[in-house]
Amino acid sequence: MKLSRVFWQTLKEVPSDAQIASHRLLVRAGFISKSAAGLYNLLPMSQRVLRKIENIIREELDKINSNEVSLSFVTPSELWKESGRWDTMGPEMVRFVDRKSNDFCLSPTNEEAMVDVFRKSITSYKSLPVNLYQIKTKVRDEIRPRFGLMRCKEFTMKDAYSFSIDKASLDTEYENYYQAYSNIFKRMGLDFIIVEADGGNMASGDAKTHEFQVVATAGEDLVVTVPDLGYAANIEKAQTFRGDLDFTDASDIEKIETIDLKTCEDVCKSLNVPVYQSLKTLIFEATYGKKTVPYMVLLLGDDEINEVKLKNFLGADHLSIASEDTLKDLAVPKGYMSPYNLEKKVSVLYDASIDVDKSYIVGANEENYHVKGFVPSRDTQSFKQADFRMAKESDFGPDKKSKVVFKRGVEVGHIFQLGDKYTKSMKVTVLDQNAKAVTPLMGCYGIGVTRTMAAAIEQHHDENGIMWPKAIAPYHVYFAKIGKKDETKDLCDKIYNDFIEAGVEVLYDDRGMGPGPMFKDADLLGLPLRVVLGERDFEKDGTVEIKVRSTGESLKVSVSDVIVKTKEILDKL
Ligand code: ATP
Ligand code: MG
Repeated sequence: MKLSRVFWQTLKEVPSDAQIASHRLLVRAGFISKSAAGLYNLLPMSQRVLRKIENIIREELDKINSNEVSLSFVTPSELWKESGRWDTMGPEMVRFVDRKSNDFCLSPTNEEAMVDVFRKSITSYKSLPVNLYQIKTKVRDEIRPRFGLMRCKEFTMKDAYSFSIDKASLDTEYENYYQAYSNIFKRMGLDFIIVEADGGNMASGDAKTHEFQVVATAGEDLVVTVPDLGYAANIEKAQTFRGDLDFTDASDIEKIETIDLKTCEDVCKSLNVPVYQSLKTLIFEATYGKKTVPYMVLLLGDDEINEVKLKNFLGADHLSIASEDTLKDLAVPKGYMSPYNLEKKVSVLYDASIDVDKSYIVGANEENYHVKGFVPSRDTQSFKQADFRMAKESDFGPDKKSKVVFKRGVEVGHIFQLGDKYTKSMKVTVLDQNAKAVTPLMGCYGIGVTRTMAAAIEQHHDENGIMWPKAIAPYHVYFAKIGKKDETKDLCDKIYNDFIEAGVEVLYDDRGMGPGPMFKDADLLGLPLRVVLGERDFEKDGTVEIKVRSTGESLKVSVSDVIVKTKEILDKL
């Protein structure tokens, strides 16, 4: 395409709300414009990138027999009521009432609607497995839309759903998507890691779930990896281990005065002992429907709570730090609470890294006092122990020897074994080989299409602009002329036509700008190759310059070789 005909403009100013590179560059390089907070217009350059991303997805999903559909974006409340999610989705789901007083929502995800499509036509095991996907707009009223296309209120998602007769088939389908996703992100030229993800409490114990994380410093997710073991998990889920700790052997309880020393750090500092020789006590309130239950959770003094793990362990709908009123009800003073000498009954949970037979410093449940020599197994009536702590960079991996490495990631894909969660609540059955009605098992598989475009930029840019991986670049070659003569124009027009004839995706800058602003625009846009015919050089030695955007390497080739050479270099990218 000739640039003079492309609806495209670059901006000098950095948008004031842009905190990360992809947001800044998408706006400055003329890919998107803002419509309102969390809402963006996708301009022609974006559309070209998105079509490429979508087509890679389509090609790979085709290979695993996934069928493309397009469900109605507006979904009726009846479906959501069947699954129970009409009441639990919360304010992220955008709802509306039509003129006949019927309730609807703008799809934030489509499990229920896909189940409905499935059950309208599938009745027998003979048709299984079934795989359906769509590439469509999703709407979520995110509490804090931010970072441009990374987290917006309206975005494009590829969502796929598999239906299987049994767990073995679900595992096979899951593995197919796992492979397809690996191919998809590899083909896009992205550096990604596949991490174990949090399955929430809806997944049964052996339900698998993985996230595909594009490694980037601006990523919102923290990923815990153990390179030596090939282990990687989202921090929400990662179970890591502390090295050998010098715990104190069991001893008798001794009360100590700790006026105004309310934190483990303060108390341990005053006693000159490591903070992990104390226990930190937290009280949480877990909600189950309308019921709320308090829990006392203890961690080593220098550890932090991982609320996702705790919520999953408790199987709660919601979890929050206990209110002052709850602390009063339980008669535990803030800063001095613990399971020691409890007046009221409350369930006690110890983190797995606590050796419950050793002795610790804990609050005395009395203002201004702690106790030394508290032994959890001896001094707690009943308790449960599990992993509730947040992984730390000083931790070791599952082998307790290999060091962990933290990385930042952008979640571009998430695959999930749903099991019978939706098929059961929506009462779907198919007949098996013995003509017995069974509930099919589902998997769901998402890719953030627009987010992937932003993630690619996070990973591929420099101070001058974007450096598109070839597979998803809006065009492959930025071809420009420098010079005013008619002969130069004629020659460049010819080269442009030759590029097109040779099947090269070329953008021809025929705007007649000076080299300075033109090179700036070219760098900002970030096409893999820039080919420039400068009148002066050409008249001197008949050459044209080819420059690789990502490496800065450049070479001069004779004008008669430019098409062949450009294609050669492109092939190697
Ligand atoms: P996140 O944890 O980032 O909020 P999620 O777990 O809610 O994402 P899913 O429901 O798994 O997301 O959606 C599938 C994919 O859609 C995600 O992996 C992500 O790439 C993309 N996505 C989700 N929310 C947004 C958003 N607000 N803006 C852009 N892309 C999004
Ligand atoms: Mg997710």
